[in-house]
This record gives sequence, C-alpha cells and structure tokens, in this order.
Amino acid sequence: MLKSIKSSLSITIVGAVLFTSIIVLWLAINEHEKLYVGAVSKDLSTLTRHFSSELTPILSAAPVRAHRIDQILSELQGLDNLVYARVFNQSRQPLATLVGRAGRKQFQTDGITDEEQGLGFVTVHSRQTGTSVEGGRVISFERIGSQAVPQGYLMVVNDISGPVQNSRRNLLWQTMPLVLVGLFSTILACLYLLKRLLSPLYSLSHFTRLVRENKDYSLRFSDHSDSEVRRLGEDINSLMEAMEVELTINQEQNLTLVEQQETMTRLANFDSLTGLPNRQFVMDNLRLELARSSRTEQDLVLMFFDLDGFKGINDSLGHETGDLILIEVADRVSSLLTESDLLARLGGDEFIIIPDGDCSDTSITNLSNRLITAFSQPFELRGLELSVGISIGIARASDADYELSQLMSNADLAMYRSKAKGRGTYTVFTPDMVDAYKRKLSLANSMDQAVSNSEFVVYYQPKVAGTGRIIGFEALIRWQHPELGLVMPGEFIPIAEQGGKISAITRWVIDRVCQELSVLQQQIDSRFRVSINLSGHDLRDAGLFDTIHSVFERYQVEPEYIEFEVTESAYLENFALSNKFFRRVSNMGCAISLDDFGTGYSSLSYLTQISIDTLKIDRQFICKLETSERSRLVTGTIIDLAKRLSLTICAEGIENHRQWEYLLEHGVEHFQGYLFSEPVPLAEATELSQTFARDTSQRMALG
Ligand code: C2E
Ligand code: MG
Ligand code: MG
Repeated sequence: MLKSIKSSLSITIVGAVLFTSIIVLWLAINEHEKLYVGAVSKDLSTLTRHFSSELTPILSAAPVRAHRIDQILSELQGLDNLVYARVFNQSRQPLATLVGRAGRKQFQTDGITDEEQGLGFVTVHSRQTGTSVEGGRVISFERIGSQAVPQGYLMVVNDISGPVQNSRRNLLWQTMPLVLVGLFSTILACLYLLKRLLSPLYSLSHFTRLVRENKDYSLRFSDHSDSEVRRLGEDINSLMEAMEVELTINQEQNLTLVEQQETMTRLANFDSLTGLPNRQFVMDNLRLELARSSRTEQDLVLMFFDLDGFKGINDSLGHETGDLILIEVADRVSSLLTESDLLARLGGDEFIIIPDGDCSDTSITNLSNRLITAFSQPFELRGLELSVGISIGIARASDADYELSQLMSNADLAMYRSKAKGRGTYTVFTPDMVDAYKRKLSLANSMDQAVSNSEFVVYYQPKVAGTGRIIGFEALIRWQHPELGLVMPGEFIPIAEQGGKISAITRWVIDRVCQELSVLQQQIDSRFRVSINLSGHDLRDAGLFDTIHSVFERYQVEPEYIEFEVTESAYLENFALSNKFFRRVSNMGCAISLDDFGTGYSSLSYLTQISIDTLKIDRQFICKLETSERSRLVTGTIIDLAKRLSLTICAEGIENHRQWEYLLEHGVEHFQGYLFSEPVPLAEATELSQTFARDTSQRMALG
C-alpha cells in the first residue's frame, strides 16, 4: 500500500495534519486548564482573604462565639464547588467546619461515613498560608488577623477536577467543529496539491506504458510545467532518441545479418556456378527422403551422371569454357525434368537426379534415353560446337537397404559401368556389380605387389601381311594373379590408370618386350615390329622417352623393331605432349600406330598434324563388315583416308576369311585377329612364326 508515492505522501500528510492538530488541541486545552485553574485559585484566594478579615473580629472577641463563625461560614454555602471550609484557632485546632456541595456529593458517592476520611481533611500544622492546587483541589489557607497577632486560620477547599473537566468538555464542543473543518480542508487541500504535483508523473508513467505497448520509440514526452518531471521527461526523451538511433542501427545490422545468413545458406546448399543444389543439400535431403521411403516402403531412384570428354574440353579449351558447359548442362537437364524432380551438382562434372513420383523401369529408361538424346546435340559456345556425352548410373534405394552411402556407391558403380561400356549410355545397378567392384578393389589393392613381384606376362599376337607372312606382333600384357588366375588387360589396365600404376606397368612391358625381342629375332628372319601399347597417362610421363632410350641401349634394341600403339582418344587428349613424344620416338626409328581408329573423335583434321605410320581400324567395324552397310562405309572411308595420307592400314579383330578377303580387296595391308592367332606366350609365338606362313596359306586355300 505504501509502495506508491501518492499513497505514501497522502498517509504522511494526513498523519502529520492529524498529529499537529491533536498536539495543538492538547496544548490549547492544557493552556485553557492552566488559565482556568489560575483564575479559580485567584478567586478562591481573594474569597478566603475576604472571609478571614470578616472572621478576625469574631475570633478576637472573648469568648469566641461559635455560632457567629458558623454564620459567616454559611455564606460560603453558595459556592458550587466547595468541598469544605474550616476555621482554626491560633493553635491550628479546628473550630468550625462547613461541608460544601461538592464535599457532600463526594461524601455520598464514596459512601464513607467518617467525615474526616470522606472529605480528605488536609493537615494544617505546618502549613504555610497561600493558595495551592493539590489532587484536583484548590486549597486556600489564610491567616485570620494580622501576622503579628494571628487569631486563627481559614481553609477553603474547592473541588477543581469536575469544573476543569466540564470546562475542557465545553472547550472541545466549541472548538471541535472548527478544528474538524480546518483539518479536513487542510487534508483535502494537501491531497489536491499532491494530485496536481503528481499528475505530470502520471502522464510520464502513461507515456512510458504507451511506448512499451506500441514499441514505438519515435514518441516523445511533452510537459510544459517547470517541475522535475519535465526534466525527467526530457531525459527520457533523449534516452528514447538514443534508443531510436540504436534501434535503427540494430535493424540495419539485423538486415545485414539476415542477408548474410541467406547468402551463407545459399553458399552452403547451392552450387554458385549452376545455381543447383549442391552435395551438402542433396545429402541432407536424400537422407531424410530415404528414411521416409523406408518407412512407407516406397522405392526411390538415384540417377548419377558425369560428362564424357569433359576433362579434355577443360584441359584444351580452359576452365572458363568448362564452366559454361556445366551451366548449359544444368539448363539442358533441368528442361527435361519436372518441378518436383531434383537435379543437383555434386562437384566437377558430376550431377545427380532424384526423379519424383514414378520410379518404374519404363519411366527411368525413358528419362535416361531422353537425357542421352539431349546430349547428342553439340553445345554451341563461343562459336565452337562442342560434343559432350553423359554416362548415367542408376540405383534403387531398395537395393541399398535405404542406406545413403550404399545408394551413392551403387549409383557410382553403375555409372562406371556405363563409362566402361562407352559414351552416352546408362546402366541400372544390379547386385552382381558389387562382386565385380570387389574384384576391382582386390585388383587395385594387389597391383603394387604385382609390379614388384613381376606377376605380369607378355603375350604376342601376330600381325600378318596380305601374303600371310608375319610382319609383326602386338605385345599384350596379362596378369598371372596368384588367386584370380589370368587377368586380362581390359580389366586391370583402367584400374592401373586410375590408381596411378600405369607408368610402372608400361615400363615393365617395354623392358620385357625389349628383353624378349632377341628370342623372336632368332626365329624370324625377315623384318618385323613388336607393337607396345601406351596409355594416355604414359604420354604425360616426362621421363618415358629416356626410359625407352636406356632400355633400348641396355638390350641393344634396334628401334626399327619397335612400334608404339596409342588410342586415338589418348593421343588427342594429350595432343601437344603426344606430338612431341611421338616425334622424338619416330626420329629414333620406331613406328607409331593409331589404335582403335574410328571410335573416338569425329573430326579428322588433326590427322594432318600428327606423325604416325599406321591406322588400326577398330575391331567393331571389322566384325560388322558382313552385316552392316555403315561399318563397310566407315571402313572404306578409313582405308581411303589412310591411302591419301600415305599411312599403312592395319585391320584388327579379323576372325574369318570373308573379313580378310574383303579387306584385302579393299587394299588393307596388315591384318591381326584370331583368324591368324590369338595372343600367345612368347614360346608359342616363336613356334608360331615357324609354321605360320604354311598354315595361313592353307587357311586361305580352304577359305
Ligand atoms: P588393343 O590394343 O586394341 O588390342 C587388341 C585387343 O583385341 C586384344 O585384347 C586382343 O586380344 C583382341 N583381339 C585381337 N584379335 C581379336 C579377334 O579376332 N577377336 C577378338 N574378339 N578379339 C581380338 P586384349 O589382349 O585383351 O587387350 C585389350 C586392350 O588392353 C588392348 O586393346 C589395349 O588397349 C590394352 N592393352 C593390352 N596390353 C597393354 C599394355 O601392355 N599396355 C597398355 N597400356 N594397354 C594394353
Ligand atoms: Mg593395341
Ligand atoms: Mg586396338
């Protein structure tokens, strides 16, 4: 209750006014009483002296006449408040006593019969003359006669308590209304004043409440009085100004923070180049999606793809062009998807699609075909037409137990299958791919050991001329794996390339071929060449030429006996380096042949810029010679082209006489294939050379 200023001040003021009034009243009553008692004492003293002088002759006479004394005393009977009056002789012995009205009243009320006790007679033996107030009585004691010759004494005792009480009551009755009026007016005046004084404070309180409720810090408090509240209001106003400024700064900072947060979220979840969701975003969402699919037992499909030949474009045309292609790819793929399908870029040239809704085989196959077809159109960038294909790997969540890493790895496996199959294909993951993958892992892990333990062996496949005479061999590596048996190069060479082991293997093959060359030379009288296959990685190996040179020296190899085969794509992916390397090798006397020709690049203009001796027509055209008009056309064109460029033509993969004859008729000079011999170990190769000419002529005769 006393917490508010108003109530505290009100109570204090009312209390103070009341207290002051009571004190003043009390003092006034006291003063009034004093005056009253003083006046009564004075009157009684005068009265006593008057009667003393009247009694003087009576007491001076001898004998003293008692009735005269009583007569005089009886005159005092009219006094209202007289308790008693007594006359004493010179020896202060009472001579006469008059009991007054007050005395009798007291005597009766107290019910005391003993007069002495009831009236409370005052002893006078040693009493001095004069008037005094004792125990609510005024006692006047005067001498009768002169001081020199006293005749006796008169004592008049008047009751004063009753009159004083009456007088006090009267005074109160008379003054109380006035006092009360004064008191209430003072209190009301004080309260009014207080209200007026506190009203600015109330306005200030109302103002602050308004600010708090509306949160509007632009409001200002106005008070035109000259009170402290005005100054307080001004202080609050300046505080509000400061708060408003701070608030504006805070709002601006908040806005910046929100923008920064949005940017960070965008950067964290979206790819800045294509604007597509990034790996982080996809992984987070995919995890949730997989949990949901697992609960509802609905399958989910993940399509993982990367671009074929993107690395070549990036390396040859620069990253800027590569970036433009990635943006175009994002646009092209997005246009084939619905709003609810998710397309994301995982990094580099890797993307994923999570189709929404229909996950049936037909739907996924359709989408994959649409994607592949979309990439059959070249990208037109900066006046160039760039062909980029895609290899797609498709995996289902149900095959991965709805586990994210497993699903990703399955899609990855399927995608690498597509890559291995050739450009622009898709592969749906099947559980047996895991076994293949495990085998691949096992090969990758044991490759180091294979190199150091020399677990490889070189097989030789003869190349023959139109007459059937052996004009060379292709050295083809095999891996005699201690657990897996004979592993073919088509399987482990790509693994070696990915694992960075290909240089060691190539060096091993060069060394082994040069070492075994003398054995072949002993059996074959005529000139021949042994072809060694090089991979694209070898062309980037700066020390390879020196290795070849030193191996040739070590085994005293004539370079004319050696040919290097490199695929068209490997050559073109490392164009400058390949040119430099092959020019040096060619200058040394080795021959160079372009392997698997016709499968890679469609542009042939580069052929005039490279130094090669032979074009090897790929097996895929040869095996379809009899059935496909297109293969016959391509083969014919390659032969024609090679002739125009004065290049030797070698056809590989010849399995029957019809193919051989057809190629012979069309001017092919060298032939390689199972018709003549499969790749065989060195020992068989030497024997082969002995009997080969006879056997082939027989086969031709039979054909
Ligand atoms: P390639 O250089 O095109 O070799 C020809 C491949 O075709 C050989 O397979 C050979 O066995 C096979 N072939 C030859 N004639 C016929 C035929 O009539 N019918 C069929 N079906 N196949 C035939 P191989 O030995 O399995 O080698 C596969 C590939 O591995 C080679 O293709 C070559 O690119 C690579 N390779 C082999 N040895 C080496 C090596 O020492 N170093 C490098 N870098 N690659 C090698
Ligand atoms: Mg080859
Ligand atoms: Mg080949």
